[in-house]
Amino acid sequence: MTYDVAVIGGGMVGTAIAYGCTSRGARTALLDQGDLSLRAARANAGLIYSQGKGEGLPAYATWTRRSIALWPEFAETMAAVAGGTIGFRQRGVLAFCLSEEELDARCALLQRMHNQLGGPAAPVHLVDRHELDAMLPNVRLGPHVVGATYSPEDCDVNALPLLRALNAGFLQARGTQLLERTVTRIASRGDGFNIVSDRDTTRATKVVVACGLGIPPLAEMVGLHAPVRPVRGQMIVTERLAPMLPIPGSGVRQIHEGVVQIGTTTEEGETIPATTVADLARMAARAAQVIPALAEARIVRSWAGIRPMTPDGCPIYQQSPSHPGAFVAVCHSGVTLCAAHAGPLAAAILAGKLPDDVSDLQPDRFDAHPT
Ligand SMILES: Cc1cc2nc3c(=O)[nH]c(=O)nc-3n(C[C@H](O)[C@H](O)[C@H](O)COP(=O)(O)OP(=O)(O)OC[C@H]3O[C@@H](n4cnc5c(N)ncnc54)[C@H](O)[C@@H]3O)c2cc1C
Repeated sequence: MTYDVAVIGGGMVGTAIAYGCTSRGARTALLDQGDLSLRAARANAGLIYSQGKGEGLPAYATWTRRSIALWPEFAETMAAVAGGTIGFRQRGVLAFCLSEEELDARCALLQRMHNQLGGPAAPVHLVDRHELDAMLPNVRLGPHVVGATYSPEDCDVNALPLLRALNAGFLQARGTQLLERTVTRIASRGDGFNIVSDRDTTRATKVVVACGLGIPPLAEMVGLHAPVRPVRGQMIVTERLAPMLPIPGSGVRQIHEGVVQIGTTTEEGETIPATTVADLARMAARAAQVIPALAEARIVRSWAGIRPMTPDGCPIYQQSPSHPGAFVAVCHSGVTLCAAHAGPLAAAILAGKLPDDVSDLQPDRFDAHPT
């Protein structure tokens, strides 16, 4: 059979787009390599986060904010599909600052973004130590915490149940999963594409290349350009602790089961998803500076994941100028943008035209600044 859409990549980005296509009635195939591949979707921190997103490229800030606005309703749909909670909360997110210099740097970043956008990228408040203590009455913050920036619209979610819900929703809407397949070639064939894997060939009218670090060679075959490089991130999880942090922080977040998640790193060029003692120790030490009680908590798990990162850190979306019907989508904020990917982006792919909001997020922005 010929599918309406074939999505290559079953990570956070591809699965969201595939779910969005199939739930709108398109016959959709989702092709994925399998559990042993490098994937970021199962490693992330679960923040739906706007602070600092889009410096130098205001379209990313606007697109992030659009996704965040869609998240509460999207989370309800995902919870219904999953038949249980996905841990979604909209309580805002704090970015703790451990010195006046850090606080000044964050304020300067927000001011630059405000100026670039001609208005606030998202509401972000500066919170001094006194206000912070009042917001977090059940925790003693460390003496070096001078304040924080706080984005009240931001949210968090438990990313693994989210990924499971996307897959469940995809299957419930009669999507077809084609797993354990490494796509090696995409060839256009008149009215669509042949997607060739190491096992078989799938035919589709439209193809979406959304396989993270696997994108570049496949994208080139259909005239798409999406340079990505690997950037490793490490995470730590503590034992369950009594409730203390009702508002998630960007590097330290207590989730509803009581565990505290600490992280993450941004390590350029690392392709092996392994943790390092030095980085875990540094992350743990910073978390203990924010909340000294964490120094006594037992660490029960740590892990690493490899993010697909674009040259400027902003998403890339494109429909191929030479092969209409072929699309590419990649970003390093796949959780934050999940609601936009399953919603307006999927709808636009089916309509054959990317949304106006992402016209500045096409890869031609790299033409003037070759990487
Ligand atoms: C430590 C860490 C913390 C993070 N925290 C956050 C956060 O708090 N908030 C947030 O929004 N984002 C966060 N992210 C980023 C988020 O996880 C990524 O944006 C997202 O997972 C990228 O999704 P993706 O689908 O593009 O890539 P991946 O998740 O890497 O998935 C790519 C998929 O493509 C498949 N594939 C690759 N090549 C092929 C091929 N040739 N054929 C078939 N299949 C193929 C792979 O099997 C894989 O399943 C974090 C990432 C890390 C590592």
